[in-house]
Amino acid sequence: MSSDRQRHTGRLFVISGPSGAGKGTICKRILEDSDPSEITLSVSMTTRVPREGETEGVSYFFTDKENFREKIEEGGFLEYAQVYGNYYGTPKEYVMEKLEAGTDVILEIDIQGALNVKKAYSDAVLIFVLPPSMEVLRKRLTDRHTETEEAINMRLSETLKEMSVMDQYDYCIINDVLDDAVRAAEAVMKAEHSRATEDVCRRLVERYKEELD
Ligand code: 5GP
Repeated sequence: MSSDRQRHTGRLFVISGPSGAGKGTICKRILEDSDPSEITLSVSMTTRVPREGETEGVSYFFTDKENFREKIEEGGFLEYAQVYGNYYGTPKEYVMEKLEAGTDVILEIDIQGALNVKKAYSDAVLIFVLPPSMEVLRKRLTDRHTETEEAINMRLSETLKEMSVMDQYDYCIINDVLDDAVRAAEAVMKAEHSRATEDVCRRLVERYKEELD
């Protein structure tokens, strides 16, 4: 994804979908395939405790509720939400700096957060990742061995409810074969940079007009 570097501002891509749909793996692959100056992942802030193997500043910025609330008051979040009793938020400054520098930013956040981002920043492109079937999703969650069957059942019925907002998203990618899903997400990103409304297209037309005068 490197031929359109003359672009002005970066694009904001928001990826969500049920746990187990593979959105994290897709994001990881997109980042591996790209230059960090072209595309970056926003690191969220959370009040939940770190899990084993998670790193401060990489997985999340871990903080306490008091500090999180202060940051809300200061207007420091592009969006924030309470998920399973903990706060999660997207730090505004990092995202805006990157977009202004021409770097695309990916947010991997929940549906509630994605819809709030779209309200605050209407240029955001929302991508929903779906599993190929509910059986596959159940199997992926079971294979993780991190949750009881009851918790998995709860998660699956929650997932079905969440899917009802999918029509407010711009794109939906079905993650059956990972390589295909990654290619589809990269194609979406590429296509978004070819929109006729992109600054770079407008500027070119302006230049052609000047040249002809
Ligand atoms: P986990 O605790 O498993 O890392 O994340 C729980 C949920 O919070 C996931 O659905 C994840 O996508 C979501 N999440 C992570 N960061 C953010 C954020 O900055 N904002 C919002 N709204 N959700 C987030």
